Amino acid sequence: MRQTIFCLLLSLCLGWTLWETPAVAVAQSKSKPSDKFRQLDEVLPTPNEYRTASGAPGHRYWQNRADHVISVELDDERQRIQASETITYTNNSPDELRYLWLQLDQNIFAKDSDAFRAQTSGGLDRVPFSVLDSLLRRPEFDGGYKITAVKDAKGQPLRYTVVKTMMRVDLPTPLKPGQQVSFAVDWNYNINDAVKLGGRSGYEYFPKDKNYIYEIAQWFPRMCAYTDYRGWQHTQFLGAGEFTLEFGNYRVSITVPDDHIVAATGVLQNPRQVLTPEQIARLERAKTAAAPVLIVTPEEARRAEQGRPTGRKTWIFQAENVRDFAFASSRKFIWDAMGHNVEGNQVMAMSYYPNEGNPLWEKYSTHAIIHTLNVYSRYTFTYPYPVAISVNGPVGGMEYPMICFNGPRPLEDGTYSARTKYGLISVIIHEVGHNFFPMIVNSDERQWTWMDEGLNTFLQYLAEQEWEEKYPSFRGEPQYIVDYMKSENQVPIMTQSDSLLQFGNNAYAKPATALNILRETILGRELFDYAFKEYARRWKFKRPEPADFFRTMEDASGVDLDWFWRGWFYSTDHVDISIENVRWYRLDTQNPDVEKGLRRQERESRPVTLSEERNKPLPKRVDQYPDLKDFYNRYDELDVTEMDREMYRQFLATLTDREKEILNAGLNFYFVDFKNIGGLVMPIILEVTYTDGTKEEMRFPAEIWRLNNFEVSKLIVTPKEIASITLDPRLETADADLANNFFPRRPVKSRFQVFKEQRQGPPNPMQLERKGQSKPQGDNPRP
Ligand SMILES: [Zn+2]
Repeated sequence: MRQTIFCLLLSLCLGWTLWETPAVAVAQSKSKPSDKFRQLDEVLPTPNEYRTASGAPGHRYWQNRADHVISVELDDERQRIQASETITYTNNSPDELRYLWLQLDQNIFAKDSDAFRAQTSGGLDRVPFSVLDSLLRRPEFDGGYKITAVKDAKGQPLRYTVVKTMMRVDLPTPLKPGQQVSFAVDWNYNINDAVKLGGRSGYEYFPKDKNYIYEIAQWFPRMCAYTDYRGWQHTQFLGAGEFTLEFGNYRVSITVPDDHIVAATGVLQNPRQVLTPEQIARLERAKTAAAPVLIVTPEEARRAEQGRPTGRKTWIFQAENVRDFAFASSRKFIWDAMGHNVEGNQVMAMSYYPNEGNPLWEKYSTHAIIHTLNVYSRYTFTYPYPVAISVNGPVGGMEYPMICFNGPRPLEDGTYSARTKYGLISVIIHEVGHNFFPMIVNSDERQWTWMDEGLNTFLQYLAEQEWEEKYPSFRGEPQYIVDYMKSENQVPIMTQSDSLLQFGNNAYAKPATALNILRETILGRELFDYAFKEYARRWKFKRPEPADFFRTMEDASGVDLDWFWRGWFYSTDHVDISIENVRWYRLDTQNPDVEKGLRRQERESRPVTLSEERNKPLPKRVDQYPDLKDFYNRYDELDVTEMDREMYRQFLATLTDREKEILNAGLNFYFVDFKNIGGLVMPIILEVTYTDGTKEEMRFPAEIWRLNNFEVSKLIVTPKEIASITLDPRLETADADLANNFFPRRPVKSRFQVFKEQRQGPPNPMQLERKGQSKPQGDNPRP
């Protein structure tokens, strides 16, 4: 999901407490000697027949499967869901299963949920009313699943146990490898007000026209994943760690008021029963249109807002090979659609939004969907689904298969800021992009946020930069991650979702930036893109673990990256390399005419010391008595003698032509001394400027640090003289301190403001009373 909005949602949902981040000391590996290039084998899980050492699925890879048939009724009067489902679960594992675990995500809204009770509290200094309002509403809301039946295929009740947000269903006979079991669950729940209580789904009420938009997700008991690496993934849902799910087919019948428009995962099966002939004709036209076609126009949506339903309609959707199912429903929806061919797959891109979303939504939403499918498909695999949908409602940004919910809207007068415009395009790219990670490359979200959010934010950055030149992406460029990387209050990327500190920076921005650096600076675009595409191809519709990503990127690129994963994913070190010193050497040619001349120049350029200068005018005894002068008063050791020249001739006679050439090449030897202050080892990239004005880029790989990760020296041999050196001149490495990136050092430029002191503060109560503006009551007028 989109992190900025998520923070807001989460703080609303969990109360105001997350506004303050707790101070936690983080163990740093800084200033302790360590082998930054040590291979990760002892950290990563041992490869096996399910997951290979190359990072690919093994020859006995398996995953279980859950097919669903669901009927749901949306109660628009009481904002309730009433539903029943039949799950057909296939055990492809080699293990016998005596019980099944299901996820009851709605229970996060139960009055006694751990998500609510496990909140920590900050202070109450300044709290907005909206936050206080949600804090007071939260305990009143009767949320959570009401499970009314769990039955086997013959309708006999099954034993089940609810454990907070999880439910264990006991099987009368064990489910053997290769076997299937079908069972049914009936339930209902009250839908949360997503504006007031937050959440990844829920309703939004519009007081102006007394209508609702429903964005419905995590709405049915879903199978937990049973995996080769941890058995049942039933870590409790606390709000941050998202969903670990199984693939399957879904047939879902959604009954809503007959004036609602429904958007859902999958393809509509009964258009003739729920759409008008006009809408069907428009949809047909949209398939080949060059621009989005309105299926429901703004005027039609406005008319529907004023009307009342005359009955109910059931919309039937079918979705193949998806890990989840979500839908949205409202009579407020405008609906536009445009067919698009993504690398041979015909997709219908569609947007659903109220009039409140225009003019932004009609202009950008469907285009942003298609742009995302194009760019992401190029870097991964062809988008495989038949539809891709973006819905505007109360949820800031949240992804589901084929459908996502996106929040930004213009102001009521139809104007909008640049931030809102690009916020909308970015969130649509991000949420549609989630179709690739984790909806298809099905990583374990409850455990690892970065595996979907980090990879997705990285591709989001690439897609944004292909939307328009200088697109204002706020994640991806190395320089933007610097402040986070320097901060003390952090944990490594490889930390479980619900324990992350600085969630957005940790799981979105840092991995996205790391991958961008890996692509641009470490591997180069060609190697990176090949390996990244291979990872996507290998794990499409499968369940990768972090090791599978790390190993595949190495296996396919042919580059050892263990140091990179170690530094960026397993540590909290940052990048700060410093040019400490430059030492300049020249070769002694041993030619007395050259060398003695140079030494004389040197002697003459030495400063006259203070005492020398004051002693100079004093009368000298040898001048008074010139007889005292002898040979040494005339002798200068820097005079070239015939003997010097003869010795040089003899020396030259012993040299080969190559040796003579080297001797007379006029080479300069510069030792550049570097210090690794941040701890993270990275390549050293230099721009060397010579005294003749020419420049040269030099790139030394991170392995330069392998013998000493604190200090290294690099020898630059050149016939030219160096005037200056800049480290990381194009800001590719997220170097946190640029002041030490220059030889010679440069002053750090910044600006500050001066202001005029005001002697007088705001009026005091006595002044106010004299003016008759304040009438303090009681003894203590202070609130
Ligand atoms: Zn996301």
